[in-house]
Amino acid sequence: MKRLPALTLAALPLLFAAPLASAEEIGECRFDRDTLTFAGTPVEQATCLLRKVELMGAKRDQPLPPVIKALLESPTAPTEAMKLAALAQFPEPYREYATKYANAPVSQTEAGVPLLYYVIHDTSTPFYANEPFPKDIHNDWKVNDFIPYMDGTFARQPVAHIFLNRVGQIWAGHEFIEPWRATKLESRVVGPTARGRFVHIETVQPRRFLPGATSRGQTEGPQPGFSAEQYRMLAALYVYVSARAGRWLIPGFHATVDGGIPEAHDDPQNFELDRFGAAVAALVSPPVSPVGRKQP
Ligand SMILES: [Zn+2]
Repeated sequence: MKRLPALTLAALPLLFAAPLASAEEIGECRFDRDTLTFAGTPVEQATCLLRKVELMGAKRDQPLPPVIKALLESPTAPTEAMKLAALAQFPEPYREYATKYANAPVSQTEAGVPLLYYVIHDTSTPFYANEPFPKDIHNDWKVNDFIPYMDGTFARQPVAHIFLNRVGQIWAGHEFIEPWRATKLESRVVGPTARGRFVHIETVQPRRFLPGATSRGQTEGPQPGFSAEQYRMLAALYVYVSARAGRWLIPGFHATVDGGIPEAHDDPQNFELDRFGAAVAALVSPPVSPVGRKQP
């Protein structure tokens, strides 16, 4: 190490401040590649990561559902009862699979940094180009088919931990114990050191071209975007994997995780955050029967 020239005491704070000021922050939610964390408190991070994703990946601020804010501010971990409530939501055969792993650890990075982020995607598949979406989109067999995610159509390995179709069926491409990446932030910018910090949920939603568009960067999803079953399962998966992690994970969207990175994706489209919040609230705060309450 080089000997430092004589310094006045007044210069010292600047010396120590310099590396902090130059620490590289990535993207709109300011991801720090050393701590593998977005900027701010968990609530501030979720507020940035859950901004509404609009057409062509534009983002708009929206309030956090009160339950998400309360959980992220809560000093207590998810309870066993909450995990069981989440498991009870799952359809078979995923329920049996998830029960088998219910007490298993979740992913962490190579350096041992624990899982922290729960990332919601839409599959943008099937693609209908200039054709209209099917009329009964929630029950359409082609929309709900898991085979293209399984058979190597898109990639040699499943692109996410979970695939969730519109009738609420779940296929695990990777168990939550497995570090897996599905964003540009992880795969192109930070690299393998980030792997394990995020889990990824692919929620089935088709796409088509915007009127007059010819590029896959100019597409729209159906409205409404997701089915009630998808919100219910997204909430159950959130509670389940948070319980296994021993902490409330910070939810976010693919488009906001990658916001500010070139060629960032624009999913999920037409996501109604309040419906996700309501589904989470139903699992973590079952209504208390007034009968059982003590009278004042
Ligand atoms: Zn995505």
